[in-house]
Amino acid sequence: MSKLVIASGNAGKLREIARILAPLDIQAVPQSEFDVPDCPEPHITFVENCLAKARHASAHSGLPALADDSGICIEALGGAPGVFSARYAGEPKSDQRNNEKLIAALAGEANRRAHYTCVMVYVRHPDDPEPVIAEGRWHGEIIDTPRGANGFGYDPYFLVPQFGKTGAELDEDTKNDISHRGQALRDLVDKLRQLKRIG
Ligand code: IMP
Repeated sequence: MSKLVIASGNAGKLREIARILAPLDIQAVPQSEFDVPDCPEPHITFVENCLAKARHASAHSGLPALADDSGICIEALGGAPGVFSARYAGEPKSDQRNNEKLIAALAGEANRRAHYTCVMVYVRHPDDPEPVIAEGRWHGEIIDTPRGANGFGYDPYFLVPQFGKTGAELDEDTKNDISHRGQALRDLVDKLRQLKRIG
């Protein structure tokens, strides 16, 4: 079984990634096992920050690495808050203040289209010239009144039209199935399987 370091400290994400990669004979190891210091994320695109995190984790662990980055992009706001989603309303980060700021920014705006995006980057080593880049997008629209108690972040305001429910009203399995993160993970697995076939 080959080892892969995961550039994330989030226990839920680690479990989900480990479960998906196990059938590929890949053992996912958290970067905390290697005392990887925090990685700067200075870029304005998901893919650049994600690549920086993957390289950083690989350099500090000596292993191939996988990083992920996600956020919400609002069409009427030119894609904002994007990479700033976690801290849209500043420090300390707060889902409640982020959502308040978002609803205020969209006051009077008819275009409510939004999507969550997730990028995953896999590097074989820090200087890998061919990183594997996987992506997922989950489309919805922003409503003014929150609904539901599941999920996190912007989920109570993110309505998924084909379910008539917000992200916070969906159960965890359904969300994992259709979300940006679920889609990116499936894209990643497809791409890694393809590499194995031709490698
Ligand atoms: P991270 O990439 O998991 O750190 O996510 C960055 C930020 O994007 C989070 O702090 C949330 O504000 C937002 N976000 C990403 N994915 C989701 C989601 O599935 N639901 C709600 N908010 C999300």
